[in-house]
Amino acid sequence: MGKPDKRPPYWLVETCPTWCDKFHGDEDLVDDRRHVSRWRQRIVLCTMEPVRLASLATGSEVEFEPCTVQVWVEQGYREIEPRIRLEEDHGLGLFALSLDEADRLAQALAEAVKLGRSTTL
Ligand SMILES: [Zn+2]
Repeated sequence: MGKPDKRPPYWLVETCPTWCDKFHGDEDLVDDRRHVSRWRQRIVLCTMEPVRLASLATGSEVEFEPCTVQVWVEQGYREIEPRIRLEEDHGLGLFALSLDEADRLAQALAEAVKLGRSTTL
């Protein structure tokens, strides 16, 4: 492996967004030409059933992992704005939201949290 090439790839005609930490190269296929944030938030969903791992097929003990949702920012190199990505670690769901949709989701989550906290037992 040689020194990293500091020249931008031929297909990248604009600079990366400030939040992009991905290495881009001439060899990137079209679907891989994406700006991706290193920033990620992982949220363990404590009230969801755990996910049974594939080790059951090997005869070893059954293993479980909690459902975990990751949030990050991603933008295709020809898209006009980034989208917020939500994905469950075990493939239970993959979501792509526009900034406006993510904002509405955040507001809905904030409202739901506020509503839930307003109820006293
Ligand atoms: Zn980038």
